[in-house]
Amino acid sequence: MAGVDGIAGVDAVSDPSRAGRDPRRASRWAGVVRTPLGLAAVVLTLALLVLAVVAPMLWSADASAVDTDDILAGPSAEHWAGTDNLGRDIVLRTLVATRLSIGLALGATAIAVVVGLVLGTAPLLLGRRAGRAVVAGVNVAVAFPGLLLALFFAVVFGVGATGAVLAVGFAGAPSFARLVQTLVAGVAAHDYVSAARVAGVGELRILVRHVLPNIAEPLIVNATIGAGSALLSFAGLSFLGLGVQAPAYDWGRLLFEGVGSLYVNPAAAFAPGAAVLLAGLALNLLGESAAKAVGVASPGELSVAPRRRRAARATPLPGPAEPDPQADAPDLVLDVRDLHVGFPARDGRVEPVRGVTFAVRRGEAVGIVGESGSGKSLTALAVAQLLDDLADVRAERLDVLGEDLTAPGGESRRHHLGTSLAMVFQDPMSSFNPTTRVGAQLAEVARHHQGMGRREAMDRAVDRLAAVRIDDAERRVRQYPHEFSGGMRQRAMIGMGLMGSPELVIADEPTTALDVTVQQQVLDLLQAIRRADDVALVLISHDVTVVGDVCDRVLVMYAGRVVEDLPATGLTTSARHPYTRALVAAVPTMDTDLDRPLTVIPGRPVDPADVPVGCAYAARCPLASDRCRAEDPPLAGDGTAHRVACWHAGDPIDVDPGGRPLAQVEAT
Ligand code: SF4
Repeated sequence: MAGVDGIAGVDAVSDPSRAGRDPRRASRWAGVVRTPLGLAAVVLTLALLVLAVVAPMLWSADASAVDTDDILAGPSAEHWAGTDNLGRDIVLRTLVATRLSIGLALGATAIAVVVGLVLGTAPLLLGRRAGRAVVAGVNVAVAFPGLLLALFFAVVFGVGATGAVLAVGFAGAPSFARLVQTLVAGVAAHDYVSAARVAGVGELRILVRHVLPNIAEPLIVNATIGAGSALLSFAGLSFLGLGVQAPAYDWGRLLFEGVGSLYVNPAAAFAPGAAVLLAGLALNLLGESAAKAVGVASPGELSVAPRRRRAARATPLPGPAEPDPQADAPDLVLDVRDLHVGFPARDGRVEPVRGVTFAVRRGEAVGIVGESGSGKSLTALAVAQLLDDLADVRAERLDVLGEDLTAPGGESRRHHLGTSLAMVFQDPMSSFNPTTRVGAQLAEVARHHQGMGRREAMDRAVDRLAAVRIDDAERRVRQYPHEFSGGMRQRAMIGMGLMGSPELVIADEPTTALDVTVQQQVLDLLQAIRRADDVALVLISHDVTVVGDVCDRVLVMYAGRVVEDLPATGLTTSARHPYTRALVAAVPTMDTDLDRPLTVIPGRPVDPADVPVGCAYAARCPLASDRCRAEDPPLAGDGTAHRVACWHAGDPIDVDPGGRPLAQVEAT
C-alpha cells in the first residue's frame, strides 16, 4: 500500500464560489432580485448597458449636429434639456456619452483590480521582508484620499482620456490591494493551503490553484462597487478639464461644459449630472445586491484576516539537550531536540514551546496529549514547517525523515517531505479547497510529485479513496468536498496522504470535529495504514483515552514542555507525573459514580506570557514543595523508555491543592 500523504487537502476543494453548482445559491440570487433594491439594480444596469450599446448608433449624428440658430436654448419640447453653445441637444449628447463614460470607468476599474491583485498577492509570493514592504507601501497609499491620488496620477500621465483612465485606475489600486491582501490572508490560513505546502506545492501554484478561486467572488462584487466609484472619479476629472478632451465627450466633460452655462441653462449641467448619479447608483446597487446574494462582505464590512502560515525555518541552538533514549535508533523518522517556538509580544517574546525533545521510529505511533495551550499543536506545526512566518523556531536538532530543518532547504527537500510527510488536520471541511473536486485534489499530489498523467493520477485517486473505505469511489472523485460527510472528508484527506508514499503521518486532533462512531472509524483507518506500511504516526489529541488506545508511546505536554514520556500501556498504571495522573483520573470509567461531580484538574493552564519560576505545574499540583517553586525539574529517564519531569515523581497523592481528598488521582 502506498503511503499516507497528509498533504491531503492539497488539491481537493469544493468551491463555494461556483454559484452554478449550488441550487441554494441560485435561489439566493433569485431572492435578491425579487427585493426592491435588487430589482432596481438589475433594471438600472440593464438600461445602462442597452444605452451604452445603442445610443451612439442611433443618435451620434444628431448629437453632433450644430444649430447656430438655437444656441444655449433652455428646455423645450424639442430639446428637453436645452442646447449647448453650438446648439447641440444636451439630452442626446448625454445619452451618446453613456458608452464612453461606462467604458472608461470599466477600464479604470480593470486597471485598479489588476494592479491591486499584483500588490495584494505579492506578500504571499515574496519573502517576509519584501512582503512587509509591499504591505507598508499599500497602507501608506490607502491613507491618501482617492481623488488626491487621481489628481496626482492625472498630472503624471497627462491630460486626456488615456491619462485619466490610468490615473483613476492607479488611484483605485491601493484599496483593491488592501482588499486582496485581506482576502488572501484569510484563505491562506486554511488547512488546505497548509496541506498544499506540506505537499511541497509552490507558492505560485498555491496562489493560482487554491487562493484566487476562493477570493474571486468577493473581488468581483467589490469591483462592481468600485466601478461606480470610478465613474464618479472619472466624471470629476473630466469636470476639472483633466479628462476627455473635445471633440470627444463623456458625462464629466458635458458636466464641465454645462456648468459654464449654468446661469443661462441650468438643465445643461443637470442632464449629465443625473446620468452620473444614476449610473453610479446602478453599479453600487448591483455590487451590494451581488454581495447579499453570495454572502460577501462589502468593503466597509471587511476586517483584517489572520496571517497566513509560512514555513518558519528552525534556527539551530548552540547548547546540548538530553536526547530521547531511543534517539540513536537507526530507523528514526523524527528527531526533535530542544525545540523552542516563540512569537514576538508586546513585552518581548512569548515562548509557547520550551525545549521539547523526542524521537519517533519507523512504524511507531507516538501520542502527544495536553490541555489547550500546552504547545502540542505548535510542536507538530513546527515539524511540518507550517508555522506563521512570525514564529521563531529554534532547535538543537530538528530532523524530519532525514532532512535537517535547521539548514536551508531546496526543491529536493520539499519534494522529499511532500511525498513522505502527511498531515491530517482537525477540521476536515477547511482541509479541502472548496472550489475543486475531491478527485482533482487527490490527483494533484500524484501529478505534482510523481509525474503521473491526468488519467493515471485520477485512477490512483479512485484507488486511494477506495483504500480509505469510501464507497463508490468512481463517483465520489467527481464530487466536491461539501458533498462529503465530515467522516468521509477526513478519510478522503487521509486518502490524499496515501497518494504519495508517506513514512510519517502527523494527525492533529483528527477526530475532534467528528461524532463518536465516525471517530473510531478514522482511528481504525489510521491504525490500519500504519500497520500495513510501517508508517510512523504522531497523533495529537487532548483525549488521553484515544491516544492510549492508538499509540505505542505517549508524550504528555504541559506549559510548552514534555513533562512525561511513557509507554501507552502504562498510562493508567505507571504514570508518575501528577499532571499525567490527573489527566487519567479525569477520564470517566464504568466505575465512575455519576451522582458525584466529575473529577477535574483544579486551576488554569499556564499563560505562555507569564510562565512561573520553577515547575510550571506547581500552582495546581498537590505535591508541590518549595523546591518545585524554585527549580524547574528536567525531563529525566530512569534507564528505560520512561522519562518524567518532576521532583516528586510517583509520590502518593491524597489531596488536591485545596487540601480536599482526591483519591482519584492517586497512582494505581
Ligand atoms: S515538580 Fe513539584 S510541582 Fe512539579 S509536578 Fe512535580 S511535584 Fe508537582
